[in-house]
Amino acid sequence: MPSSMRDFVAATGIVDVHEHHIPEILLNREVNLLQLFQQSYAGWTQARPYPLPSEKRDNDPMLAPTGPTTWEALAAFLENSGSNSFVRNLVTGVTELHGNRDKAITRENWEAIDASVRKQHQRAEWGREVLQRAGIERLITDAYTDPLLDARHALGDNYNSVVRINAFACGWHPDSWDHNGNSAHALLRRLGMEPANFDDYLVALETLLDGMASRHQVALKNALAYDRDVAFDEPDEKLARQAWGKATPSPSEQKAFSDFVVDRFCRLAGERDLPVQTHLGTAIIRGSHPLKAAGLIDRHPRTRFLLMHLAYPWSRDLLGMAFVYRNIWLDLTWSLLLSPSHFKLALHEAIEVLPDESRMMIGGDNWHVEETCGTMKLARQLIGEVLEEKVTTSYFRNDDAERLARKILRENAIAFFKLQV
Ligand SMILES: [Zn+2]
Repeated sequence: MPSSMRDFVAATGIVDVHEHHIPEILLNREVNLLQLFQQSYAGWTQARPYPLPSEKRDNDPMLAPTGPTTWEALAAFLENSGSNSFVRNLVTGVTELHGNRDKAITRENWEAIDASVRKQHQRAEWGREVLQRAGIERLITDAYTDPLLDARHALGDNYNSVVRINAFACGWHPDSWDHNGNSAHALLRRLGMEPANFDDYLVALETLLDGMASRHQVALKNALAYDRDVAFDEPDEKLARQAWGKATPSPSEQKAFSDFVVDRFCRLAGERDLPVQTHLGTAIIRGSHPLKAAGLIDRHPRTRFLLMHLAYPWSRDLLGMAFVYRNIWLDLTWSLLLSPSHFKLALHEAIEVLPDESRMMIGGDNWHVEETCGTMKLARQLIGEVLEEKVTTSYFRNDDAERLARKILRENAIAFFKLQV
C-alpha cells in the first residue's frame, strides 16, 4: 500500500461501535497471557461459549478460572490452531504491546511476554493507554453480563453501552434465562419493577427504554441468533400471551413471545429513534441467515437497524438487503477477524452496492484491550488496502477514498449513534 493512504488511515481516530469490554474482565488486575487467549476469539477455537440446541453448557468457558500460563497450554492455540485468523490477530496485538519487538510468541519468549502481561494489567491505566495507542476515541460496549450497565460510570468517560434485549425476549417466567444467564425479571427488579401480568411487562419494557439515556445507553442489541433463529415473524399476540407465567411454554409459545417482544422493541426504538444492533450470521447457524430477519426490517421502516458481522458467511445476501431496505446500516465488526481475505472481497462490493456513504461502521468485538488493539490494526490495514485498490483501478479518486475512510472509521458512527465528541 502506498504510504499516503496507509498514513491517512493510521492517523484517523476510530469510533468503535462494538466491543465486549465488561467490568469482570477489563477491571481484573490479575491477568496472564493464557487468559488473553482464553478470553478472546482465539478461545473460541477451543470452546464455543454458546451451546447449540443439541448441546448443554454449565458455565461460560470464557469466564472460567484459568491456571498459570504454560507453554503446553499456549501451544494448543499457537500450534494446534495457529493458522486460525483469531489466533493470528491476537498474536499481533499481544506481541505489539508485550513482545519487545518479537513478532511471534515462542517457546523461548513466552515467559517474558507472560510477565509483561501480568505486570501491565496490574496498572489501572493500562486499558486506557492501549486504547489511546490504538487510536480509539470512543467505544460502545455490549456488556452482556449486565444489560443495564452504565459503561461510562463503570469503565470510563469514553464509553457508552447498549441494552442487550435477549433476556427480555425470553422473559415469560421469573425463572427463564437467555443464553448469557440473564433473567428479565431480575433485571426489571433492579429498576424497581415487578410486572404481575403480560400487560405490566409490556409497560415495563417502555420504562426500561425511557431510562437508557440516564445509563448512557445508546442502542438496543439483539443477539437472539445465539438463543433461537432470527425469523422474527409477524407478532401473534394471542399465542405470545399464552407463554406468560409458564416455566416451560411450548416451543411455539416461546417463539411467539419472543417474536412479539422483539417486534415491540423495534417499534419503540423507531418511535424513540434508537438504533437496533442485530447479530446475523454464524451463531446458531441453521437460523441466522440475514434474509430470515427481512420481515422484521420490512415491518419497521422507521427503525434504524445496524446489522452486524456482514452476516458472515452471507455477506452478499446482506448487501442485497442493504440496497433494498434503506433502514439498514452495516457494522463490519468481526467479519474482518473471521476471514481477512473474505472481508476485503466483501468491502470492495459493499463500497459499490451501498446506496450512500453513511452505511458502514467498524468495531472490535473483543474482551481484552490487547485483542482490540490487534483488531484495529488489522481493520486499518484491510480498509486501507481496499481503498487503495479502488484508487489504483480508477474506481474513484484519492479524495473519495480518504472521505470514505473517515466515514467508516469514525464519522458515520458519531452521526448514527448521535454521540457527543
Ligand atoms: Zn459481539
